[in-house]
Amino acid sequence: MKTILVTGGAGFLGSHLCERLLERGDEILCLDNFFTGSRPNIQHLLSHPRFEVLRHDIVQPIFVEVDQIYNLACPASPVHYQHNPIKTIKTSTVGMVNMLGLAKRTGARVLQASTSEVYGDPDVHPQTEEYWGSVNPIGRRSCYDEGKRVAECLCMDYHRQHGLPIRIARIFNTFGPRMALDDGRVVSNFIVQALRGEDITVYGDGTQTRSFCYVDDLIEGLIRLMDQEETVGPVNLGNPEEITVRELADRVVECAGSQSKIVQKDLPSDDPRQRRPDISRAKEILRWSPKISLEAGLPRTVEYFKRVLSHRWP
Ligand code: NAD
Ligand code: UDP
Repeated sequence: MKTILVTGGAGFLGSHLCERLLERGDEILCLDNFFTGSRPNIQHLLSHPRFEVLRHDIVQPIFVEVDQIYNLACPASPVHYQHNPIKTIKTSTVGMVNMLGLAKRTGARVLQASTSEVYGDPDVHPQTEEYWGSVNPIGRRSCYDEGKRVAECLCMDYHRQHGLPIRIARIFNTFGPRMALDDGRVVSNFIVQALRGEDITVYGDGTQTRSFCYVDDLIEGLIRLMDQEETVGPVNLGNPEEITVRELADRVVECAGSQSKIVQKDLPSDDPRQRRPDISRAKEILRWSPKISLEAGLPRTVEYFKRVLSHRWP
């Protein structure tokens, strides 16, 4: 049994990760400041004897004894990370230093939840880990993109300078139950709009692409990356099944059995035109590839949002 710190443990990915690690027999410290995470995400874990919640902000140092640290704390949707951009970049930089400092003191291994956003609006397609990216350093997305790039740099420098065992996962768009209802990400937005019979808001002409990975697959990839000895990373984790945002809108409407109309809204600045992971490295090193298609994952996610909305609707 390991003692594992999961920062951002009450968030979308963090709550699934805590659940899986508990099932495996580990002891979990779930740290969260509850900015975008929520108690309902971890409600079912609260009475577990090996699960403990720490309300804490990683921008402040913390002293605990742990064997592994999954550093997931950081708002992940554009609406949330742009709400307080200075806090976002502090979370990825000061927070990362705090987690690496904790690892240096305890000898813990750190897995950093990085992102496909380090590739920016990519000129290389699909994106391989060798690609250095095309990121606007001063735009609205920079607090997130550049913060995550600095976090990767910090991980590598702690690794080179102090021999710290680190792992870097570059996570591509992931979806599934426990995405926040109001976080503005495309899958949750479209599903909630479809279920409420509201217009589906496609930003721009909808020809931009993304590749969506179901949460269960992603969590499996994170755990495999943490536990292997072959590489520190970075390793892309995502589903290479690429579709346009417009096609996603059609699929969600169909899956939800909705009458919603699709409407166009302005495209946010620096919105990447295309995104698809090259997952050759994950296949080779982790023996990992996604098993759950968008087609299989969407109905499960629609069912989740139906349940959430049925509690909230007047
Ligand atoms: P999320 O917003 O649901 O979870 C983030 C969690 O971190 C929340 O519980 C939030 O309250 C917590 N948090 C934020 N700032 C904090 C701070 N300063 N101190 C302590 N807790 C803090 O997002 P998610 O989708 O679960 O993403 C988890 C991680 O994975 C993030 O680091 C994100 O950048 C990364 N990621 C996610 C995706 C995706 O598609 N979901 C893609 C790429 C990268
Ligand atoms: N998007 C959209 N309508 C929405 C929300 C998002 O068309 O209601 C688009 C957004 O402009 C982007 C894509 O969907 O091109 C994915 O957006 P998301 O915020 O989910 O993630 P990211 O841009 O970080 O990949």
